Amino acid sequence: MDDPALHNYDVIIIGGGLTGLRAALQFFRAGRSCAIVSKVHPLRSHSVAAQGGMNASLGNVPGDGGAVDTWERHAYDTIKGSDYLADQNAVVRMCKEAAATVIELEHMGTVWSRLENGTIAQRPFGGAGFPRTCYAADRTGHNILHTLYEQVTDKKIPVFEEFFVTSLVTAGGRCTGCTALEIMTGALHGFVAKATLMATGGFGRIFSRSTNAIINTGDGQTLAIRAGAALKDMEFVQFHPTSLVGTNILISEAARGEGGILVNANGERFMTGYAPRSADLAPRDVVARAIEQEIADGRGFEGGYVHLDLRHLGAGRIRERLPGVCLITQDFAGVDPVTEPIPIQPAQHYSMGGISVGIGGQSDLPGLYAAGECACISVHGANRLGGNSLLETVVFGRLVADSIIRDIASVPLPASGPVLASLGEIEEKIEGILRRTGGEPLFPVIDSLKETMYSRFGIFRERSGMEKGLAEIKKLHERLVNISVSDKNRVANQALVRYLELEYMVPAAVAVALGAMAREESRGSHTRTDFPARDDEHFLNHTITRMRDGEIGITYTPVTPGMFSPEERVY
Ligand SMILES: Cc1cc2nc3c(=O)[nH]c(=O)nc-3n(C[C@H](O)[C@H](O)[C@H](O)COP(=O)(O)OP(=O)(O)OC[C@H]3O[C@@H](n4cnc5c(N)ncnc54)[C@H](O)[C@@H]3O)c2cc1C
Repeated sequence: MDDPALHNYDVIIIGGGLTGLRAALQFFRAGRSCAIVSKVHPLRSHSVAAQGGMNASLGNVPGDGGAVDTWERHAYDTIKGSDYLADQNAVVRMCKEAAATVIELEHMGTVWSRLENGTIAQRPFGGAGFPRTCYAADRTGHNILHTLYEQVTDKKIPVFEEFFVTSLVTAGGRCTGCTALEIMTGALHGFVAKATLMATGGFGRIFSRSTNAIINTGDGQTLAIRAGAALKDMEFVQFHPTSLVGTNILISEAARGEGGILVNANGERFMTGYAPRSADLAPRDVVARAIEQEIADGRGFEGGYVHLDLRHLGAGRIRERLPGVCLITQDFAGVDPVTEPIPIQPAQHYSMGGISVGIGGQSDLPGLYAAGECACISVHGANRLGGNSLLETVVFGRLVADSIIRDIASVPLPASGPVLASLGEIEEKIEGILRRTGGEPLFPVIDSLKETMYSRFGIFRERSGMEKGLAEIKKLHERLVNISVSDKNRVANQALVRYLELEYMVPAAVAVALGAMAREESRGSHTRTDFPARDDEHFLNHTITRMRDGEIGITYTPVTPGMFSPEERVY
């Protein structure tokens, strides 16, 4: 009789966000069997929270002097924004695919906002030379995720929702599938596949202040490094300039794209001093540093924040273009942006680093692929431009699926033995965790890790603080084995899931820490107060992180150059 807990597919996709859903459609179109495994319902994936929009050089809104946008201008802005750490072949590919991707989404059902003339509306975003960001009011991710989920449902592609992946399985130097805990029942399942695609999103929740969903705990990055794949550029963590004080809910860059300005406690529009040309619409690394500096220099409000002022835009524009921002500020801070400025502070927002993959999404473990925020392909380098991540998820969700379809043409379905063996090990491990009594409670350890990461590896970094931070993380690692979870049941045990997530968070944190300590320069989001200059001679390189015998170490590999040579970033 067939084992109901053992599943065979050509491809298993881990993650039901934009990347995973778009990839699934491509496998379906190619006649390949695939299934999506997701620890939450796909519509609760973090992609649903994306607000501001998706970049594409449609050229529907002219730039200065009537200039028309092109993919080359998009590529230039992206590479300059990345502080020249992005791989230019990957950026060029993404920017060339962007317009067709937006149109394809429209044909599938995405309801883009419109200009008066009926074409897709585009708004200015940070670091972009043209109004290039296509949007669905300020609920763009919600709109696209629902579009793709409808398509996946229509095609009856299997989705294992609320299944938490517990291991990647390897045999003969190849990834042959994964194991997962069915959260609602506590049962374990094995998935055997010719290829495994990681689409697990970022690791933002290793930081205390983050705009990310609580599920963004670096599971994919740690699963990959434990299985033998490398990570890339993990020290490059984006801090978004504008999160609502006290809650760290994102206030979209669209608010500044529509004309919002940042003002300090003295009533000064301070961004003109930091970025004379772009001011409030400079890239995120520049604006986040400026806000942090204003606060550090005593020009912030008590409690560590500044104001984002939209009032001059008028009620009509604010309510039509930024309805989500209005709801968030009213519900969570009692502030109506039509009549009052919004109190904001920077917060962790995006993981530029991730699973190291080539342009086809191949990791250096055969059979294992990655795309979207969990991957580092690398299109964002040291700093991502707003609107480029939604684009990356859909473009590379499709392109990486295409490369998998090519690669598995002659690959047989692997034997199920190694997956079954891994199921046995995970069963023993979970029972061991549930048997533990006494010891430490879970949540204070999670909080300590997050506080350490924000205070030691935040916007400004320096050696002695980071050394202390790394020592603190290592101590937490030792404390992990003494934690006992209060719920001892197998059914719907959220405490167990949080514990397993913590096991993923710690190695991801170590990778960030080691990369940040070794990179003795300042580039993009990585600001070393002890090494304030960019150092192209020594560090125009990607940081590669691997795990050997449980120990994490780093090496470097050169950035792929292209049509744009590194120059000073002036905004
Ligand atoms: C508040 C906010 C607003 C944003 N707005 C924009 C924007 O306007 N424009 C833009 O370009 N970018 C934006 N971004 C970034 C963008 O939303 C994300 O980078 C993108 O949506 C990531 O998509 P993804 O498919 O890679 O991963 P996600 O959408 O994060 O999906 C990850 C999936 O992996 C699954 N998963 C993870 N771990 C496991 C596990 N152990 N087992 C099983 N499943 C697992 C999850 O269940 C989930 O389905 C925003 C980010 C934030 C935080």
